[in-house]
Amino acid sequence: MKRDSESIRRQAERGPHREHSVPIFMTSSFVFDSAEQARDLFTGQEEGLIYSRYGNPNTDEFVDKLCALEGAEDGLATATGMAAMFASIAGLVRSGDHIVASRALFGSTLAIMNTILPRWGVTTTLVDPKDLDEWKSATKPETRLYFAETPSNPGLELIDIAALAEIAREMDVILSVDNCFATPLIQRPIELGAHIVTHSATKFIDGQGRTLGGAILGDRSLINELRFFTRQTGPALSPFNAWVLSKSLETLSVRLDRHCSNAMELATHLQSDSRVTWVRYPFLESHPQHELAKRQMSMGGGLVTFEVAGGVEGGMAFLNALSMVTRSSNLGDTRSIATHPATTTHSRLTEDERALVGITPGTIRLSVGLEEIADIINDVDQALATIS
Ligand SMILES: *Cc1c(COP(=O)(O)O)cnc(C)c1O
Repeated sequence: MKRDSESIRRQAERGPHREHSVPIFMTSSFVFDSAEQARDLFTGQEEGLIYSRYGNPNTDEFVDKLCALEGAEDGLATATGMAAMFASIAGLVRSGDHIVASRALFGSTLAIMNTILPRWGVTTTLVDPKDLDEWKSATKPETRLYFAETPSNPGLELIDIAALAEIAREMDVILSVDNCFATPLIQRPIELGAHIVTHSATKFIDGQGRTLGGAILGDRSLINELRFFTRQTGPALSPFNAWVLSKSLETLSVRLDRHCSNAMELATHLQSDSRVTWVRYPFLESHPQHELAKRQMSMGGGLVTFEVAGGVEGGMAFLNALSMVTRSSNLGDTRSIATHPATTTHSRLTEDERALVGITPGTIRLSVGLEEIADIINDVDQALATIS
């Protein structure tokens, strides 16, 4: 894998100060030694840095590391997760093309499919992500892309990536997977047959609630096609944010271990609490797709979804009663965060549309942080006691 060896070599190189941490290259452009070199770099006869919209040592380092983790041939870094979602879709489709996508996608990704792409003659059919026959029967001759997200937000429904990849190959369609909720340390879609993996690096990859970022990884030929699109349209990640995210990858493994063990303990605890109607967590045996979770994921992830009694009022009262766990719309942070999807992230959907993706009026999504698990459980318990 070319990216791996390049990355290792680059990290072994040091400047005159023998710095341990890679420096931040806050530069918009790079200098040409001669007019001839400028010509050669622009015409592709020589490989090298030209302008930070095209590439920068910090964004390259971040992409190299992510490629190694995902087992991807090549990749691109973007300023936000949505820039990655948009570029990875818009860079591949043409007017008249068709997409089949999970109906349980991140809200802004759904808005791209439902509202923005139709302006350019690209249509999408949304399907029940669990039902592989629906993916297949929705496929038309002009279908170019399958877009999947697993586990889904906030329903934590799973898609069998290997089985969907097989259908994608049979139907000659590109399979793209948003791997944001799992990260490559828990689930590696490319090894299961996906062509493209996208990330919001804002979530677990940064994991400390500081920066926005995104990435697109995958087959070299597809990434090259997308590289043309991103170079011209400009969703580049800033060198500083790339440096932050690259550092964050060095702690991803230890953070995820703690996120997942805390989440498993909280989910198990909530399952035996009669004030909670239901709990969903991929590694609980009660999860309807538990077998698939064990097969496709190495840990259960950092999110737990559950229902409190009392509908919308109950959900909002629970949020207001929390004292340590914060109310915020981010996830994958060091600190535990609770959201009430029905009145916030998914408030634009109708109640029926919400029900289809597993959101009831009293549904709570909890992004379990790195605090002591006893403190998290105490806060959730006292909030449940307050509202019941
Ligand atoms: C947050 C998120 C995104 C969007 O990422 P941003 O960095 O906020 O632009 C896309 N997909 C999923 C699953 C997310 O959780």
